[in-house]
Amino acid sequence: MRTITIKPQAITHNLNQVKKMAANSKVLAMVKSNAYGHGVAAVLPALQQADGIGVATLTEALEARQLGWDKTIGLIEGAFTADEWQQAINSDISCVIHHAPQLQWALDNIPLANSATRVVWLKYNTGMNRLGFNAEGIMAAAKRLHEAGYQLILATHFANADDSTHPLNAMQIQRFSEVLDTLQATISADIKGSLCNSAGIVNFPEHHYDWVRPGIILYGSAPVIDKSAHELGLQPAMDFSAQIIALQTVQADNAIGYGSRWTAQKDTRTALVSVGYGDGYPRVISDEAYVTVIDTTNDKSYRCAVIGRVAMDMIVIDVSTAPEDIALDSKVILWGDAPHVDEVAAHAGTISYELLCRLSIRPNRIQV
Ligand SMILES: *Cc1c(COP(=O)(O)O)cnc(C)c1O
Repeated sequence: MRTITIKPQAITHNLNQVKKMAANSKVLAMVKSNAYGHGVAAVLPALQQADGIGVATLTEALEARQLGWDKTIGLIEGAFTADEWQQAINSDISCVIHHAPQLQWALDNIPLANSATRVVWLKYNTGMNRLGFNAEGIMAAAKRLHEAGYQLILATHFANADDSTHPLNAMQIQRFSEVLDTLQATISADIKGSLCNSAGIVNFPEHHYDWVRPGIILYGSAPVIDKSAHELGLQPAMDFSAQIIALQTVQADNAIGYGSRWTAQKDTRTALVSVGYGDGYPRVISDEAYVTVIDTTNDKSYRCAVIGRVAMDMIVIDVSTAPEDIALDSKVILWGDAPHVDEVAAHAGTISYELLCRLSIRPNRIQV
């Protein structure tokens, strides 16, 4: 059986790691894209100690409300239409305001004084150059929102926080702190700041401001290039597994699978595993890729290389490292403790975020 096992207690543990790192900040836990593929319903109960959650679409925000999340919900790209702005008010969603049309919707339709929508995340473009007002527009937007009765959180997003040596980081921090200082001095001392995603939390402890916005770190992946998840004390929140469905020996000089990508140098014991790109295991994977096989009869585990082309429904692994009598239904860990999803992502030329988000609906999903 293909199985995605979610471990809510790992998420709570990772949240506590974040709270230790950013002890003086509130935490907006990012649960966009179905909680990075973990399933928002499974994840929300593990995030009770967060101060709020962040999502990318109004649909995601409304789903979280439906699931009973009654604290802050931050909509990180804001409303896409005036109608969405109204719906955000109806469900007490706090929105990002990153361009003039959103500013206008907010000024045209002001929520009641006790509404959570009175809090807006005003987005300042400090160098990412995707969303946000530039240096000229940000002051005027802040002034108009403040005068209309909104409470402001100045927000920006790092482009390179995973690499602490990248020169844009210091530039973004400086631009952000200058504008925040000016807003606090000229408009209101109550204006808050929010700068750091997971990587920023780890790499820039001096610049956490009022709200941090952890995402991938909550799910147990390393957000920075020079430290592993293990070194950061994180626990992977997902186990992705399948099972051996056939065992065979491929004779020397014979090739396996589509494109005959892998040819046996010697007689090789192989196993078919019931997982493929139709489940979300990456088709593009290097020869370094491996899985962990756990023999169901004695719980012993073996590291086995993935060989040949990943297909929609199956992969082939080299079980030379395991005993000949390994059980037919042995469990195969695609990612979890070992290999970590960060390793699989590296072998697939991508990042853990993508592998986690693009799991398909086919695998069985359980929680422990
Ligand atoms: C997704 C997102 C985050 C979280 O990013 P991670 O790298 O997963 O920590 C933080 N802030 C914003 C605005 C985001 O869109």
